[in-house]
Amino acid sequence: MSVIDEVLKNNEAYAKSFSQGGLVMPPAKKLAVVACMDARLVVSRLLGTREGDAHVIRNAGGIVTEDALRSLLISHYLLGTQEFMIINHTDCGMLTFQDHELHARLQKETGTDVLAPQRFYAFADLETNVRHQIQKIRAHPWAPKNVPVRGFIYDVKTGRLREVAAHPKSRDAAQA
Ligand SMILES: [Zn+2]
Repeated sequence: MSVIDEVLKNNEAYAKSFSQGGLVMPPAKKLAVVACMDARLVVSRLLGTREGDAHVIRNAGGIVTEDALRSLLISHYLLGTQEFMIINHTDCGMLTFQDHELHARLQKETGTDVLAPQRFYAFADLETNVRHQIQKIRAHPWAPKNVPVRGFIYDVKTGRLREVAAHPKSRDAAQA
């Protein structure tokens, strides 16, 4: 049995006891999260949220890409979220390679170059990466000015989130 067949069986059991059919579309906690796709992060579990509580936008690295920005803008302007949270994590796969290496490898293996993706967004420093994602949101002309944007590193060994100050000098303020 393929894994997809296996999880479809799980879903049958899930649907049998499903009781959340009355939820509305706007997230109840008015929270939007951009998180890495890493399988060790079960975002609702580590945040203690439930169905209907938050938007969770995930990709490799927890990067504020053009597509993540698109989702955040829809999340705020159409569905009312009022706080944005970025979650990166320790032991992230994006720390283990460089864009140009993967690009060259895939070009070689497939024998062709591509227009997209232009970038993989691999990074060398977690804190710097989190800061850059905060900055990408805050610097966007359509970013809502009244919405807090806070960044965190999730420790895959302890399950704990640690806040990363948007600017290194204001680290103490962010942790207060
Ligand atoms: Zn990751």
